[in-house]
Formats: sequence, C-alpha cells, structure tokens
Amino acid sequence: MKKLLLGNAAVARGAYEAGVNVVASYPGTPSTEITEEIVKYDEIYAEWSPNEKVAAEVAIGASIGGARAMSCMKHVGLNVMADPVFTVSYTGVNGGLVLCVADDPGMHSSQNEQDSRHYAKASKITMLEPADSSECKEFTKLAFKLSEEMDTPVFIRLSTRVSHSQSMVELSERENIDIKPYEKNIGKYVMMPGNAIKRHVVVEERINKLKEYAEKSDLNVVEDNNSKIGVISAGIAYMYSKEVLGDKADYLKLGMVYPLPENKIKEFCKNHDKVFVIEELDPFIEDYCKSLGLTVYGKDMLTLLGEYTPSMIKKAVLGEEQPEVLQASEPIPVRPPVMCAGCPHRGAFYVLKKLGLTVSGDIGCYTLGATVPLQSVDTTICMGASVSAAHGMAKARGKEFNKKLVSVIGDSTFMHSGITGLVDIVYNKGNNTVIILDNSITGMTGHQDNPTTGYTIRGEETKQVNLIALCKAVGIDNIRVCDPFDVKEFEKVVKEETEREEPSVIISQRPCALLKTVKYTGHCKINDNCKNCKMCMKLGCPAITVKDDKVVIDQSQCNGCGLCVNVCPFGAIKKEDN
Ligand code: SF4
Ligand code: SF4
Repeated sequence: MKKLLLGNAAVARGAYEAGVNVVASYPGTPSTEITEEIVKYDEIYAEWSPNEKVAAEVAIGASIGGARAMSCMKHVGLNVMADPVFTVSYTGVNGGLVLCVADDPGMHSSQNEQDSRHYAKASKITMLEPADSSECKEFTKLAFKLSEEMDTPVFIRLSTRVSHSQSMVELSERENIDIKPYEKNIGKYVMMPGNAIKRHVVVEERINKLKEYAEKSDLNVVEDNNSKIGVISAGIAYMYSKEVLGDKADYLKLGMVYPLPENKIKEFCKNHDKVFVIEELDPFIEDYCKSLGLTVYGKDMLTLLGEYTPSMIKKAVLGEEQPEVLQASEPIPVRPPVMCAGCPHRGAFYVLKKLGLTVSGDIGCYTLGATVPLQSVDTTICMGASVSAAHGMAKARGKEFNKKLVSVIGDSTFMHSGITGLVDIVYNKGNNTVIILDNSITGMTGHQDNPTTGYTIRGEETKQVNLIALCKAVGIDNIRVCDPFDVKEFEKVVKEETEREEPSVIISQRPCALLKTVKYTGHCKINDNCKNCKMCMKLGCPAITVKDDKVVIDQSQCNGCGLCVNVCPFGAIKKEDN
C-alpha cells in the first residue's frame, strides 16, 4: 500500500517496519514529528527524555541490551548528545542503533545552522542522507541493518525540507526482530583506557569496511544522461538539482554522506568536463573532492548561507535565470514573530523591561521577549545557558550589576539543562535570581510533555517533578511562586529577590494560553477613560493596535486573558464577559 507521508513520519514508519523497540528523544524543530509519529505504534516504547544526552544514553542502553533503538533530535541537540555519541562509536552496538538528526538550513527555528555531517566524520559514525519521504523510510530500515552488520551506530541526516515535505511511500509490514541475547563483554562496553585503545583499532577497521561498502552500495548511484556536466549531490539539494537541470547534467547521488566513496567520485569526475558539488551549508563533499586533487565547483558559485532554491542552482550551473516558483504578486509585509495573545510570558517581560533589568535569556517561546516592543532579553546562546551565563556575568561585573540581572528559562528547558547551572550558582557562591517561566508544557516545539507536567509522551499520568522541592534540594533557600499576570505583585517579588544577597528562584507560574485547559472567557474593551497614553501597547499583545491614532483592542484576536486590564493606569480597560 502507498501512502503520502511527511519525511519525519516516513522515518518513524521505517523504524517501525525495522522492528525498533525503544525510541528516546527530546523535541526540537524540525525533528519533533518523528517521535510523535512513533508514539502511534503501540509496539514501541517511546519517551521524551529531559535532554538529548539522556535520550541517546537510553537508546544506547537499549541497544546494548539487544533491542533495536533510535534517538531523534535537531542539529543543536546533537551538540548535547555528542558526549555519549563519540564513545558509542567505540563500543559499537548489540541491537541496531540509529541516531536521527535534522539540520535547519536557513534557521527557520534555530539559533544557528551548523552542519551535522562534521559530527559523522569527527565521531567516525556512518551517515545516510535521504532526499524524499520514500528514502526516509527505506534508509531508516537499512540503517538498522547496517548498524548490526557493521557493529556501528548509524546517523540519518535530515534537513527541514526533507523532514517537512511529503511524498509517496510504499508501506510494508513490521519485521519480527527478536531482542538479541545480552552478553557481558567488558572489553567492548567498558570504555576505560585499556579497552578503548583496542576499540579504536576496531573503529578504524570499521571505517575502512564502510568505505568499501560506500563504493558498492546502491545508496550512491550514478545517473547517466550523456552530459558533460556532472553534479555530485545529496538530500534536498539533489532534488532541486534534478528539478531544474533535468537531463542537462549527469548525477552522482550520494545517499551515504560519510564515509564518501572515493573511487566512485574520482571515476565520476574523470568522465565529466565540469563537476559541480551542490550541497547546502558547508563544503563537506566539496572539500573531500578537493582533498583527492579533483577540480570541482561548489561554494565559489553557491552560498554557504541558508537554504538553496532550484533557481539558485540553475543560475550557478547553467548560468540561466529561472523565476522563483513562490513569488507573491504583492510584497508581503514583514511580520515579526510574536508571543500569542494571552501568553503567560508577556506579563513577566513587561515587568523586566519596566525595571530595566539585564535579562540572560534561553531557548523557547520566551526568546520572543527579545522582539519589539518588549525587547527585554539581552542574550540567548543555547539550552540552559541563561542560568550559567548570568552566573558568569555576575562574577565578571560584580554585586551591583547582579542586582539588575536575572535569568529567564522555561520549565522544560530548566529540566533539559538549566538545573546544572543552578547547582553551579549555589556551589560557587553566586547570588543570582533565576526566573523559571513555568507554562506547564514545552511550548515552542508544539506542546510536548516534560518531567514537570506530570504526563508521559502517551499522555499517561506519571510522577511530576516538583520545581520548588528540586530548587530547595540543590540549595536554594529563597523560592517564590508568582503569577506573571499580577504585574504589581510580580514587580514587587522581582525587586525583592534581585536586591537579596543570596541566590533565589522565582517560579513564574501560568499555563500556556494555547493549552486546552486554559479557558479565558470574554474580551477586553477600552472605554472612555482612555488617555491614549499607549502604556498597554508596551505589552506587544497582537490584539492591541492603533486605529486613527487611538488605541483599540481587536476583538477577533483578544482571548480575554485580562493582562492589559492590570497594566492600564487609568482603569480604562474592562473585561466584558461573552
Ligand atoms: S505557545 Fe504558549 S507559551 Fe508559546 S507564545 Fe503562545 S501562549 Fe506563549
Ligand atoms: S493603557 Fe489604558 S489609558 Fe493608556 S492607552 Fe491603553 S487603555 Fe488607554
């Protein structure tokens, strides 16, 4: 049976058909849907782990235990996962182990656009790169087989356009794969130096075997159109190339991007007058070709930045212009990203801005606190960095600076990697104020549960991490819980805690406005008391706008959260029930 599937859903289907038993991941766009699709299969144990390192370790444990296992993440998650990944390259696997990483060229939803292929090379783990949903499924199935045959973890690399586009996939039944027997093998699984030295030899031998495999495998295929122009490409860049160049070029389509097939590439270059390497982000394949002494064209014609389009490729290879397919007849106004109407974070940022504080920010919906008009966030580096970076800032700039400094971090991000920063503050005698923006969900990636929500990935009730008890346990004595929509009280609490010469945590508690359990009613309306002072505009609520130089509330956007009622100094906004 054929079915139209999203690339991510096809990876999940491939894992299901391959008989995967355990999947552990942390959500991150563009990879999130893989694990959300996995949950639909009852045969598979699935979990959201607190971060990618834990997720990888769960999958590695399952693999050593003899089961087929997978872990999925976005590219920056691979940084977090890197520690166990480099060592599991040495131990190898028992049950097949697949690590699926989705890159985000163009940074649609990321803080950088790093190229994950470098990790494959650095960790000496083979990497496959599908170009459409059908390949997503087939490559995932093959990855489990290859993992067991070669005793290696296998990376699947996706990119936003492959993850989030749809194409037809032929579905098959799930394979009956028995859990392999577990045998104690200290030399293989205990990576102390004496054993690791021996395993490094195995890793190098394995890479040589994989190089031979890359030469013979159907993953790397030549498409001959009798052209003198050659294109070496992989993934979505290959699809774009085919779309615009058609049979005007021959192709070496690489399904395995590490290790690369040296002889196949040399042979392909020998048979063509001019060879282009077309790959988004870094010149990974291009540099390899040049290291073999081959003349190829790539980044000298195409950018290192962002996503490619078919027209860019046509221009670079044929010198021909092609109109972009998606072109609006009218210029589209730039719409800055904005927190939803009723977002619980809006009240917190309004207060932080009003107090003129330096805000060490983090990754989540609340990163939008950096946009106008709130413009409250000073830094955003990576998951968890808000807490530890503020500690560093305070140590560098001293006590007085610290009184005007706070960290803000979401509940899920705090569980991911904020907690270790808080331990550091306590241990190293910092006195920072950390605000945990607890919106009772993982907001930005689309409402995934986390250890603080009390529900598992399947929606089953579970133990809920108590943030107060947790902060107490690491040594924080001053913990305040506060509603960010009660702006007066919130302001008072922030002032008191930043003044305090001890570390403190403020739990800013109000659920995400988009949760089904949040039922705001009615709308807010501005009455004749309005002095047009525009104070309420400072909230950046998408429902509050200016019409004919008067502030108005767009009733179609207002969800009745009532934050603006608390902000207006003249009592000019009233909530009206439906
Ligand atoms: S999804 Fe929830 S937390 Fe995120 S901006 Fe919207 S209301 Fe705020
Ligand atoms: S804060 Fe109140 S008085 Fe000022 S513009 Fe808004 S509604 Fe009018």
